[in-house]
Amino acid sequence: MSPRREKYYPTQLETFQQCPFKYRCSRDPEIRDKYRRPTPQLYMGTCIHDALEAFFDIRRVPVGQRTLEKLGDLLRRAWAGVDLSPWKRDARRREREIVFGGDREEEASWGKLALTILERYYRIADRTVIPFTAEQFHEAPLAEDVILAGKIDRIDQAADGSLEVIDYKTGKLPWRRDEESLAQEDLQLSSYAIVVGRKYRIPVSRCSLVFLAHDETLGFTPSPELLAAKGEEILGIVSRIRAEREWAPRENPLCPWCEYREICPVGKEIPSPEERPAEKPDVPF
Ligand code: SF4
Repeated sequence: MSPRREKYYPTQLETFQQCPFKYRCSRDPEIRDKYRRPTPQLYMGTCIHDALEAFFDIRRVPVGQRTLEKLGDLLRRAWAGVDLSPWKRDARRREREIVFGGDREEEASWGKLALTILERYYRIADRTVIPFTAEQFHEAPLAEDVILAGKIDRIDQAADGSLEVIDYKTGKLPWRRDEESLAQEDLQLSSYAIVVGRKYRIPVSRCSLVFLAHDETLGFTPSPELLAAKGEEILGIVSRIRAEREWAPRENPLCPWCEYREICPVGKEIPSPEERPAEKPDVPF
């Protein structure tokens, strides 16, 4: 009998490496639903992704109609959940209510920020591109009993037929931006390159991170050696997850923002960013 296959996403693997206790909480649907709170940043990010998905879908927006006004309109529709299926639309509305609680002023400021981010990206984006896939789930076997999976923002195909895996980021630029550091520190894009290469049997020639708010695209070339090493790294993490019995909390710089602080023996002693006393600047003026 062949072993049972388990599916892993790179974000899950990164969570386990960050903190086993957090990983365990995030894998328990009851705990996850009770403690996970949508934030304005996440809501904005989801709507920006939806708007870009629609914008680059030629069935919805022909290349000649890819204007800035159209992109703004798509963002507003995504924000209100207008084009979603009834079930997803209800979920989007509930999330919007939780995040903004009817505070129209607060909501408007996040909406305007989203429009500004998209406007900046619009100026530098190749608006003629027809993606190979956009916002799709992909998966491929990594070992007999391990499936690697991920929702990939966009895959483009180059003139030579090779593929480029693209991830949109709405947050800050990383501290180290050179190709070597990005390739070594990243797990997500390498995982996607492995999945896409195995699924389509087409080489992935580039992994790119598009920092929408910074007019900047960073990335690296995923060599076969790099992907082989990342594949081994992923299987090593999976083995550690399978062998884990303690699920101990591991304090780390992201604890103040962790949604499970309340039930974490380490995290409940750590103030959230809002609870921290404001530090007075020690300057001679
Ligand atoms: S608060 Fe920190 S230690 Fe606790 S679960 Fe979250 S990440 Fe882990």
